[in-house]
Amino acid sequence: MRYEAFYQQSIDEPEQFWAAQARLIHWESPPQQILDQSNPPFRRWFVGGTTNLCYNAVDRHLVERAEQLALVAISSETDVTREFSYRELYWEVNAFAAVLRSLDVGKGDRVVIYLPNVAEAVFAMLACARIGAIHSVVFGGFAAHNLALRIDDAQPKLLIAADSGMRGGKVIPYKPLVDAALNEASAPPSQVLIVDRGLDPQMTRVAGRDLDYAGLRRAHEGVEVPVVWLESNEPSYLLYTSGTTGKPKGVQRDVGGYAVAMALSIRTVFDIAPGQVMFSTSDVGWAVGHSYNVYGPLIGGATSLLYEGTPTRPDPGIWWQLCERYGVHTMFSSPTAIRVLKKQDASWLKKYDLSALKWLFLAGEPLDEPTAQWITDALGVPVIDNYWQTETGWPAITLMPGLELKPTKFGSPGLPAPGYKMKVIDENTGKEVAAGVKGVLVFQPPLPPGCLSTVWRDDDRYVHSYFSHFRELLYSSLDWAIRDEDGYTFILGRTDDVINVAGHRLGTREIEEVVASHPSVAEAAVVGVRDELKGQVPIVFAMLKQNAGADAGAVALAMQQRVVDQLGGVAKPSRVYVVNALPKTRSGKLLRRSLQALAEQRDPGDLSTLDDPVALDDIRRALERGP
Ligand code: ATP
Ligand code: MG
Repeated sequence: MRYEAFYQQSIDEPEQFWAAQARLIHWESPPQQILDQSNPPFRRWFVGGTTNLCYNAVDRHLVERAEQLALVAISSETDVTREFSYRELYWEVNAFAAVLRSLDVGKGDRVVIYLPNVAEAVFAMLACARIGAIHSVVFGGFAAHNLALRIDDAQPKLLIAADSGMRGGKVIPYKPLVDAALNEASAPPSQVLIVDRGLDPQMTRVAGRDLDYAGLRRAHEGVEVPVVWLESNEPSYLLYTSGTTGKPKGVQRDVGGYAVAMALSIRTVFDIAPGQVMFSTSDVGWAVGHSYNVYGPLIGGATSLLYEGTPTRPDPGIWWQLCERYGVHTMFSSPTAIRVLKKQDASWLKKYDLSALKWLFLAGEPLDEPTAQWITDALGVPVIDNYWQTETGWPAITLMPGLELKPTKFGSPGLPAPGYKMKVIDENTGKEVAAGVKGVLVFQPPLPPGCLSTVWRDDDRYVHSYFSHFRELLYSSLDWAIRDEDGYTFILGRTDDVINVAGHRLGTREIEEVVASHPSVAEAAVVGVRDELKGQVPIVFAMLKQNAGADAGAVALAMQQRVVDQLGGVAKPSRVYVVNALPKTRSGKLLRRSLQALAEQRDPGDLSTLDDPVALDDIRRALERGP
């Protein structure tokens, strides 16, 4: 079916549309009502239907694809690759579920999972889903304080953690972080299940609290644990947002709606048919990891590649080598990762046979044109930007090559996905703006299946954070956007990333785009800083490409000139700092608010999700040195 008709039906006849999509998954008992909107902005999908995410991701495939690879967990850090067929996955998940049961974990109990990208993370998630426990994966490598905050919010019965993670060849012991987090938490779980990878010989255990997974697994190997059928709207998992703008929100996902959204999107957005191979480079701790490393590909009967490591170790060809080896059909990564590769020689991408590779999807942050162009040329496959949020659980704006490939437009993730009733509105009047005019991107309720049900144990925060910005009841994405004549949406940054220069409101992202188009620039961040005369002025922090050999002073001048030429004099950056690194969240998002704070000599704020503290020192030094 063509995209327009498909999308339009999802908006005009949502119940018929979603009733048809619901057939993509197994229901133990069918929904009684497709959509309940009696209590907006809450909504319930597939009311009364019972199903189970684990059953749909694993058991259901045993008839037709038991011997097919389900999961390949590759670590370029430990140099270990583990392959699991659907049958093997079934037994691993059952053993894990049996261990959980033996620890008295049952339906509705929360389980915090603090693991790196190892196969056990997937087993643990699916095991929770199987028995109706609510998992909350916390990105391994978050500091103790982050973990403690999430533990206090989720109040888990059990914490599952690894002894260590590894990054760039260095062992990062997790266990001391776990111990510190449990000390800090006000209601810590009484049990910790440790997946011991043997990376940290110094690891200590707390007697009576810390349990070893390997031993318990052996004791439960071969046990089959019955699936617990859940009503479609019961919680399946919690996942905290990245915290780019402040305190992370505990996004609560349902069961049935999410399963249907996964089954639909893996086919129509990611173009993955059963038996094909999907390689998402995300960490399981992010929304992409949940949806497109675990639930999406497995519900879709595909093979999912899970990768622990950096894109450049052992060499910058590693991802493409894996694409060749496993015949990857769809790859999914982030602009940040591509920018890392862009600093390397493009020949690394051309060494391998990528004939099976059809698409590269990128998401999580704006995809700037130079990066998009570079990777498109280097790979020779279409690059598909997709826009979504932890809250939405799956792409809200993208192209749907599994249905019909529409032309790509650089700078735009494309068109609305099914069920997303989108508008771009004026922030003051709340009225829809004309094509080409900037406004706030909003979704009209009901949110489609797969999107958050609420904020965990905080319905008020759900209403307040997302639905209270306008007189009309609208979900605010808190992102700026423009829609063009063809209905393509361009994301212009977050509503709090705006600079007001002498009365002109400028999106930091628009300036970044221009600055980053300079051939010597690898990446740039623009923030507004206080200025006595103009209120605010834009300043630039830029990283130059390695080996570009460019003169930093000359590049800085050229960047300023480009902005003047393309956006006008008001947008001219008043200072340009050339730096070695930019501060990012662990999920790769620019921490503009911290850059801005440092530039204004304020406290950089909540740094709990900062990836590399060294980047901030570098910024401080650059500010001291001057532009
Ligand atoms: P928090 O909500 O806690 O501040 P966060 O918004 O960074 O954190 P995520 O849900 O991980 O947490 O990120 C979603 C945001 O990422 C979007 O609202 C948008 O700002 C940005 N984003 C995601 N994909 C794209 C994309 N393709 N193009 C532009 N921006 C994107
Ligand atoms: Mg957000």
